[in-house]
Amino acid sequence: LSERLGGILDRLTRRGALTEADVDAAMREVRRALLEADVSLDVVRSFTDKVREQAVGATVVKSVTPGQMVVKIVHDELIATLGSDGQTIDLNAVPPIIIMMVGLQGSGKTTTTAKLARRLTERDKRKVLMASLDIYRPAAMEQLAVLGRDLDIKTLPIVAGQKPEQIARRALEAGKLGGYDVVLLDTAGRTTLDDEMMSEAANIKTAAHPHEVLLVADSLTGQDAVNLARSFDERVGLTGIVLTRVDGDGRGGAALSMRQVTGKPIKLIGTGEKTDALEDFHPSRIAGRILGMGDVVSLVEKASANIDAEKAARTTERMRKGQFDLNDMREQLLQMSKMGGISGLMGMMPGVSKMKNQMAAAGLDDRIIKRQVAVIDSMTRQERKHPEILKASRKRRIAAGAGQKVEEINKLLKMHRGMADMMKMMGTGKRGPLAGIAQA
Ligand code: GDP
Ligand code: MG
Repeated sequence: LSERLGGILDRLTRRGALTEADVDAAMREVRRALLEADVSLDVVRSFTDKVREQAVGATVVKSVTPGQMVVKIVHDELIATLGSDGQTIDLNAVPPIIIMMVGLQGSGKTTTTAKLARRLTERDKRKVLMASLDIYRPAAMEQLAVLGRDLDIKTLPIVAGQKPEQIARRALEAGKLGGYDVVLLDTAGRTTLDDEMMSEAANIKTAAHPHEVLLVADSLTGQDAVNLARSFDERVGLTGIVLTRVDGDGRGGAALSMRQVTGKPIKLIGTGEKTDALEDFHPSRIAGRILGMGDVVSLVEKASANIDAEKAARTTERMRKGQFDLNDMREQLLQMSKMGGISGLMGMMPGVSKMKNQMAAAGLDDRIIKRQVAVIDSMTRQERKHPEILKASRKRRIAAGAGQKVEEINKLLKMHRGMADMMKMMGTGKRGPLAGIAQA
């Protein structure tokens, strides 16, 4: 998927204009690429429809290259579909909070139970009890007990001959009596979706009233994971999804499908076999993975910055001619903050790497940039064009308007002179110290 989609977007980046046919062609490729990533057909269809709609409309926007626009739209829409950040386990309830794990056999329920218990104990300082409800494989209960011993986390004592819902009730009782904050129920799975597993899970749910029901699903199962998630949600009711084996999945397709089909948030991801390999789910990272470009976020930022590329070029031209007024400076300051500070701007202009460090040393960060823009905004058009007319009374008026001290206005003017001088020097090919800027 990665190379393919990367290739499409590259090709688009090199094109001049984006027609409806261009968008359609791109969407055909995106569609094929998503299918290769094992995103389910329905999801692919609705996703590409949404993107196509937006992409065609977006051609109206000026100054962005068509390819950058498509990158941005595909990326944004992926994130929107995957959900927002910070959807994690809800601990806002009366303890003991019951969290139930469901899913197919081998999906990682027992491992995830231990991982989550560890996180809740170590990070959230909760008192946790784990209970295995897997009565079908004797080794399964022992597996959880061993993990508990390793982590120094309590597990419910094993009592032979009980039904899963009886164990669930016992766990609930032990949770109350023992003053536990959280009780984790690790249920049994089967190798395929079947009715018995569903009704058992439903019975446990009725017995234990869990606050969270988490579907633990292997991200490598792809298309099947969607049916799994749908059935569990319909029959048992889910509050969230844990995707496991994300460490072995370069595609991320399952995340997109499951999220879209169930509407349930992906709350955690498993990234390894060890009990510390549990992470929060970050849609933007998975979106980047699905797009196959680790760099996609910076690409998107570049696209936004390029909206002003034309303007910047015009300003640069004026600088070279020594016509650098406060309007130009304002433009530069905005550009700077958009491009993540001074580095971006400096990158655009040749031969000024020295200045970069000096400006950084002067503490020209985003906060200061905003303040300076506010000052310029408080000036009249005439003042911006001809800063030399700024005498004491005008400065006082501007300072009041921008909520700054007159001193700030002076600093800004000094910096402007420094920049204007430098631009002139660059324009004539001379080099010299940039003291004026460093001191501003
Ligand atoms: P259960 O049958 O659902 O309880 O699955 P288990 O918790 O017993 O896990 C089955 C196998 O998957 C074990 O070998 C685990 O070590 C492994 N496993 C679980 N989660 C992850 C994960 O996030 N990454 C990797 N690489 N392996 C995992
Ligand atoms: Mg298990």
